[in-house]
Amino acid sequence: MKAQQDAPASRQLKADLFDAVGNTPLLRISKLSAALGRTIAGKCEHLNPGGSVKDRAAKFIIEDAEQTGRLSPGGVIVEGTAGNTGIALALLGNVRGYRSIFVTPDDQSQEKIDLLRLYGAEVRIVPAVPFSNPNNYYHVAKRISADVPGAVFADQFDNPANYSGHYGSTGPEILEGCDGQLDAFVAACGTGGTFAGVSAYLKSRLPAVRTVVADPTGSSLFAYVKHGSMEAEGESTTEGIGIKRITENFRHAVADDALRIDDRTMVEMAHYLLREEGLLLGGSAALNVAAAARVALALPEGSTVVTILCDGGSRYLSRLFNERWLAENDLTPRCRDLTFLGTAG
Ligand code: PMP
Repeated sequence: MKAQQDAPASRQLKADLFDAVGNTPLLRISKLSAALGRTIAGKCEHLNPGGSVKDRAAKFIIEDAEQTGRLSPGGVIVEGTAGNTGIALALLGNVRGYRSIFVTPDDQSQEKIDLLRLYGAEVRIVPAVPFSNPNNYYHVAKRISADVPGAVFADQFDNPANYSGHYGSTGPEILEGCDGQLDAFVAACGTGGTFAGVSAYLKSRLPAVRTVVADPTGSSLFAYVKHGSMEAEGESTTEGIGIKRITENFRHAVADDALRIDDRTMVEMAHYLLREEGLLLGGSAALNVAAAARVALALPEGSTVVTILCDGGSRYLSRLFNERWLAENDLTPRCRDLTFLGTAG
């Protein structure tokens, strides 16, 4: 029998699950693009092995911790996570034999918490309180990492391995996927890692590209990009996006502009994408597509706008795609066309 080899036998054969992260399709959202007369392209991050854009951050953070000697076999990964980062860290941690402990606020969807436990992670749920409160999930996770022997704090918000991984992978993949021809990049921020890495990379290669933060209501980035202040208005049911502080990762962002998308627009787009485009996506992806469409409408016909399809909608069946939840939140979709974008499209 031949000895097992570490390297893939061909370019098609992935060496392991780490190797299967990224290189996701860049998809022209076809009917929407045709209706707008502009190309809206979504980077299909929901097709990563763990089902979200956070597979990339998890991979970069684990590899950086290994390379700097902070994580070694038998080690423990600790993180404060709203779900997707935890799923990605648990999945990739299992491949390398790391145990995971996650601290999650109690306002997250049950599907994501169930998945974390299914992957073998220990999940500690804490009340959702502001970052300024020492019992915020981020601070609780940081304290646990200091107490557990062999533990490393993944620190997705402030660990620059998150942003730099996107700079080195998502950014180049997007540019290559468009054959170097794109007019704008639009995305919402959770840690800011994706937006920062991609915007900084694209600007370095294509200085004329327009970079726009898509912000849910209740987040401070809209005001920050527009006026340098941190006020936040309203609230949002979207998960994984919206921040009220400038993270170390977001500091690397190059943002020309920001726009705010409310939950009604996000929900209308989520249901439009499912009904018309065959795409079952989460709320942040829907918000991104709505923002990309609005940015595209302000650009000349024929322009190309790229955004991120962050995760799939099957994680939100009890909320975004549940009739009762939608009715309770006064978010039942009303539009059969694209008028919710503010166009006759
Ligand atoms: N969408 C979802 C569903 C997420 O979980 C996250 C990460 N929290 C994001 C978008 C934002 O990605 P990033 O952390 O890179 O800003």
